[in-house]
Amino acid sequence: MSIKQNVQQINKNIQEINANAQLVAVTKYVGEEEMRELLEAGMCHFGENRVAALREKQSLLEDVSDSIQWHFIGNLQTRAVKDVINQIDYLHSLDRLKLAKEIQKRANHTIQCFLQVNVSGEESKSGIHPAQIDEIIEQMAAFDKIHINGLMTMAPIDATDSELQEYFAELKSLQENIAAKKIPHAPCTELSMGMSRDYLIALEEGATYVRIGSALYQ
Ligand SMILES: *Cc1c(COP(=O)(O)O)cnc(C)c1O
Repeated sequence: MSIKQNVQQINKNIQEINANAQLVAVTKYVGEEEMRELLEAGMCHFGENRVAALREKQSLLEDVSDSIQWHFIGNLQTRAVKDVINQIDYLHSLDRLKLAKEIQKRANHTIQCFLQVNVSGEESKSGIHPAQIDEIIEQMAAFDKIHINGLMTMAPIDATDSELQEYFAELKSLQENIAAKKIPHAPCTELSMGMSRDYLIALEEGATYVRIGSALYQ
């Protein structure tokens, strides 16, 4: 199918399950041509996971930069913050206080951040342990460049459907607990969860941002 048909199909699924959710087109596998096709198909949220690739694509698409919201979705090294933080609208991978400190130092606008949470407890996954979320949010209170928009998670690649459901429901429950506290710098109303393989389950469990790559280019 064409990129346009894939966008239409995925948006149709989103409409049916949770019409408030945003599709973030993950563009790490593709180049300028596909990204222009995505724009023509009506996409405006683009996600990249590498600093150099993001910067390169931004320069290739400079003529249409007004139409694009950039999401950084990958692991961000502290020393790379200065190269990327003022080029993005959303950061999905805020996973430690040290990173927040560096963002506070380098950002010249408020960054919409998702706290990345390791709900599965997988050793290899980055992300904050659920028990540490409250403390880390408190520690970020003084950082006016950081707005905690919501929580993000990545499910293990070998998770079964019922495990996926459990992880996504767990993230939602954590999100609702924080939102209920009405913390000014952490309204935490959003949930970034679901990729090509598992976005339908994530939408069922309340995802408001799904990050989809490969399913767009099949
Ligand atoms: C690559 C990537 C995605 C998209 O993965 P697909 O399986 O291709 O949809 C989503 N989120 C993150 C953090 C990624 O790195």
